[in-house]
Amino acid sequence: MTPDEIEAGLLSCVHCGFCLPACPTYRETGDEADSPRGRLVLMRQAHENVLPLSDRDIGSVGYHLDRCLGCRACETACPSGVPYGNLLEEIRERQEKETRRGVGETVLREGMLALLTNPLRMKAALIGGRLTGGVIPAPIARFVGLPTDTKMPLPENLSESSRDVATFTQGAGEKRGTVLLATGCVMRVLYGTVHAATVRVLAANGVTTIAPKGQPCCGALHGHQGKLAAARAMARETITFYENACGGEGLPDVDAVILNSSGCGAFTKGYAHLLQHDERFAVRAAAFSAKVKDISEYLAALPGGLRPMPTPLPIRLTYHDACHLRHGQRIYDAPRALLQAIPGATFIETVDSDLCCGSAGVYNYLQPEMARSLLDKKLANLLATGASVVATGNPGCLAWIQQGMAAVGKDAPEIVHPIELLDRAYRP
Ligand code: SF4
Ligand code: SF4
Repeated sequence: MTPDEIEAGLLSCVHCGFCLPACPTYRETGDEADSPRGRLVLMRQAHENVLPLSDRDIGSVGYHLDRCLGCRACETACPSGVPYGNLLEEIRERQEKETRRGVGETVLREGMLALLTNPLRMKAALIGGRLTGGVIPAPIARFVGLPTDTKMPLPENLSESSRDVATFTQGAGEKRGTVLLATGCVMRVLYGTVHAATVRVLAANGVTTIAPKGQPCCGALHGHQGKLAAARAMARETITFYENACGGEGLPDVDAVILNSSGCGAFTKGYAHLLQHDERFAVRAAAFSAKVKDISEYLAALPGGLRPMPTPLPIRLTYHDACHLRHGQRIYDAPRALLQAIPGATFIETVDSDLCCGSAGVYNYLQPEMARSLLDKKLANLLATGASVVATGNPGCLAWIQQGMAAVGKDAPEIVHPIELLDRAYRP
């Protein structure tokens, strides 16, 4: 965004306060500076150089920006269309340049990005994590400022969870479409089983999937941390990679680029904005973003509807709205429609289903206290439904809620991606 665009975005807030009840951090602290409205005032003062961005003391701009989840619930609630998420990324970019963070925090921030966006490094870390039962060794945790009981997500079967899907899978029966599956980086290591389920459900519905090997990281985690130059470079690489795989600009060989990670989906839909001032990529980015669909969005809109699912699932089921699906992509009905179509399943809404669980990318590592408090409320609301299965469409939420539910013991509900339930119902 240009400085004028940032200024216009900040000025579009009319201070009505409709966003306050939607904001998880404001609900936690009751502090105006932890609300969207308060943060927008702080951002404006930083933008106009009235307040410094480098200060991180309690009450400073940096302090309250760091506590923002980037969940974008305020955007959904805002009647004035304030582009809060874009403004946050822009101000965070300046904040990253001007703030001197301690050595431990810098190592944590850079280390998380280096690990999570590189499947090989992530796999190596998870193999090492097995030796400690997934607990980050205390000296490392202390050095980077984490609680000493901090865990990393540890899949039960790493070779299964990190297995690549086939590069080409033909849809069954009458052909209804061809899509590219974006396999990402975290998903590819922790939730390859979700990719496999996605491909099977698409095939059962007559949709052919291509999933080229060696797909790059989309840059979402970098963008959310304000590393916009790196995120733009990753966006250009991603667009070029998919254009090469799908017939050129606008990806004419496929009907859609499918994502089953809502954070990556929201970010790639935002490439059109991210690269709007890039002479070489603006048009290509807009064409690319127009093709991006969340898996629930694509399946729910299939002309003629879903094909019948042959296997009833007699489960009591609830759903957690991942922020970047509900707020980042404004998708509410599609996942519910799919889950409610599963034969035999009883769907129950969760109170505050669209309130952030505290995961928020790497927020749960950077702001562990706030994240834990939000997780505890989320777990209580999910458990109150009495559901045996919780579905949610983002790897961060899956891992964070799974980790929280582990402490509940044998009565804890199973935490799955919605597409895994559809996959079970499509099995004979
Ligand atoms: S992004 Fe989320 S945490 Fe941040 S101000 Fe908006 S609602 Fe609050
Ligand atoms: S709802 Fe929108 S306009 Fe109203 S205070 Fe919040 S951000 Fe500003």
